Amino acid sequence: MEPLFIDNNLNLSELGKKYVFNTYNRFPISLKYGNGNYLFDANDKKYLDFVSGIAVNCLGYNNTKINEAITQQSVQLMHCSNLYWNEPMINLAKSLVELSGLGKAFFCNSGAEAIEAALKLARIKGTTTKGQDCYEIVAMKQSFHGRTFGAISATGQPKYHEGFYPLLPGIKHVDFNDIEALSNAISDKTCAILLEPIQGEGGIIEVNPEYLSQVKMLCDKHNITLIFDEIQCGVGRTGKFFAFQNFDVKPDIVVLAKGLAGGFPIGAMLGSDEVASYFTPGKHASTFGGNPLACHVASIVVGEVLQLLNHVNEVGNYLKNELLSLSQIYKDEILDVRGIGLMQGIEFNFPVNNLIAFLMDKNILTLSAGERVLRIVPPLICTVVDVERLFIEIRNFLVYENKQP
Ligand SMILES: *Cc1c(COP(=O)(O)O)cnc(C)c1O
Repeated sequence: MEPLFIDNNLNLSELGKKYVFNTYNRFPISLKYGNGNYLFDANDKKYLDFVSGIAVNCLGYNNTKINEAITQQSVQLMHCSNLYWNEPMINLAKSLVELSGLGKAFFCNSGAEAIEAALKLARIKGTTTKGQDCYEIVAMKQSFHGRTFGAISATGQPKYHEGFYPLLPGIKHVDFNDIEALSNAISDKTCAILLEPIQGEGGIIEVNPEYLSQVKMLCDKHNITLIFDEIQCGVGRTGKFFAFQNFDVKPDIVVLAKGLAGGFPIGAMLGSDEVASYFTPGKHASTFGGNPLACHVASIVVGEVLQLLNHVNEVGNYLKNELLSLSQIYKDEILDVRGIGLMQGIEFNFPVNNLIAFLMDKNILTLSAGERVLRIVPPLICTVVDVERLFIEIRNFLVYENKQP
């Protein structure tokens, strides 16, 4: 007899490979629906999620507040262009400005687009105030800023550059957390310093607080624009709304995207009033940027995230303690544990793809950050019990599966 079970995941994987650009190495499952911090695949298999669509779905799946926000605003007005004002955009700008202590907001649709806006703004300020040669941007090695040309040029990882030269000129990369390297790299030509307070794709690497204060002093002394990329580490992920609030250093520009509308596409750049004044009408734009639908959803998400900050701190501390005790037991296998709140990582002495596959088999979704770091970025609603379940399976892997041949 023919088997009755039809593997929808397999069918969809094959169709996908036929019709969709092969730009990702996807896992061979197709996700169909979600609820809370659980996801279900095309065969209705249920997974506990520690990925949140790469730090995007901060309120999990099927969130009633988000669903209602989308429904209500889509009936009212989805898009009207930037020829006119709309209230959801103004409300979102006001709350992000007040939360950050910065002056103004610019909206777009993705992280890379927010980075492009920040690079352009820093350059126009530099060239306007210090002359045409003041266009250089110093960024960090191991950083990640997105896939458009400006963003890959700012990204400090050669694997994202190969095949795409020439890149945007005028960007230097220095070692992260090395103040000497940074001060050697800056000159009269430097208009901006760009960094992630916690590097995400680079392997969950936190900025050193002393280094960050020194960076701020350098920027103040030389009138250099300080840009923080909080596309991954912002919006409550570290237990503060902005990651920079863990370090008490305020940038001139901060960019957000990923979690800002809980899964609805949006990007934002926030800037001080001073730096914002260099973008006059016509200097920058985005057709969809600031549309009332995305902005209304983001406002609702921001309100919810603010109420989750204590929870993120609590679960984040529990996660950190679990990571530390695991690393004490498996001293040979675990090289380092890093991160803050619900953005943490474990660096192993082996590639983590087998561990990720093992966890997936146990109905838990995780991802890597580089070859050897297991990245833990669950929806912010993740609980201590969920973390316990993850650690039981990581321990099982280390005890039973990770035997040397
Ligand atoms: C994801 C990410 C980006 C790029 O965002 P996209 O929305 O994919 O363009 C930029 N910077 C950081 C730190 C990111 O994590």
